Amino acid sequence: MNADLHSHSRASDGVLTPAELVQRAKANKVDLFALTDHDEVSGLREARVAAAACGLPMVTGVEISVSWRSDHTIHILGFNFDSDNQTLIDGLAGVRAGRDARARLMGNELDKVGIHGAYEGALKYVSNPGLVSRSHFARHIVEAGHAKTFGEVFDHWLAKGKPGYVTHVWATLEQAVGWIRDAGGVAVIAHPGRYRVSKNELHELVAEFKAAGGEGLEVLSGSQSPDDTNKVAQLARKYELLASRGSDFHGPGESWMDIGKMPPLPEDLMTVWSRFN
Ligand code: AMP
Ligand code: MN
Ligand code: MN
Ligand code: MN
Repeated sequence: MNADLHSHSRASDGVLTPAELVQRAKANKVDLFALTDHDEVSGLREARVAAAACGLPMVTGVEISVSWRSDHTIHILGFNFDSDNQTLIDGLAGVRAGRDARARLMGNELDKVGIHGAYEGALKYVSNPGLVSRSHFARHIVEAGHAKTFGEVFDHWLAKGKPGYVTHVWATLEQAVGWIRDAGGVAVIAHPGRYRVSKNELHELVAEFKAAGGEGLEVLSGSQSPDDTNKVAQLARKYELLASRGSDFHGPGESWMDIGKMPPLPEDLMTVWSRFN
């Protein structure tokens, strides 16, 4: 089963429209697809129409930004929920609401280190007003010639602790999982190998997530190494969580992994899509 349950469209920080993304997934032989825009479900309608038109099975998806233990940002994926659920819609609107002010602060901080006009520059890449992300800043900073790659931009300016990084309070873990469950969906921790937490903290995060009603881990992610895959697979076994698989595709030439091009999941794990009807 070539399931790809993690990708971004222009409704958040991806570069393709939801329909273009669906067509690329179909061309790359994906046979179960989810669009998981950051804190946003407005792209799902267009994706659903395009998926129906080309016969690509699809479930609803979202990637919610969470603040955990004050200084860690964690991403929680939701799948197969009712995208008209008001609790989820209101929760996501609340998470998005802080993004513009954060982006203005990022612009001010970047200005102090010689990157001028970054807020306005980032906005040129934003198609969903209010959903401005660090990726939009990265596109502008590369285009303005300050760096050659996304990696360089994050390493120099946008990663935690760098001059353009602004601390922000997102949803709580309990809120994100609660909204997804309220809408009838399944909650999964995105790319668990990528967080800069200790081994103990990672175990505590997974245990808290499970206690809050979370059901899965993204064992295979385009943004995780094979070492991470093994580590996360072990966590899934220990905590008896379902396994998910997603490229985290953002756009041609920009992402670690193309949509639908990942290795298979370890065979012993129970897949998250076994829970979908
Ligand atoms: P935000 O939600 O505004 O904090 O932006 C987070 C997004 O920035 C992620 O979803 C990725 O798309 C992107 N990102 C974060 N770190 C990196 C990195 N090291 N290289 C490339 N993109 C990154
Ligand atoms: Mn992103
Ligand atoms: Mn993420
Ligand atoms: Mn993502």
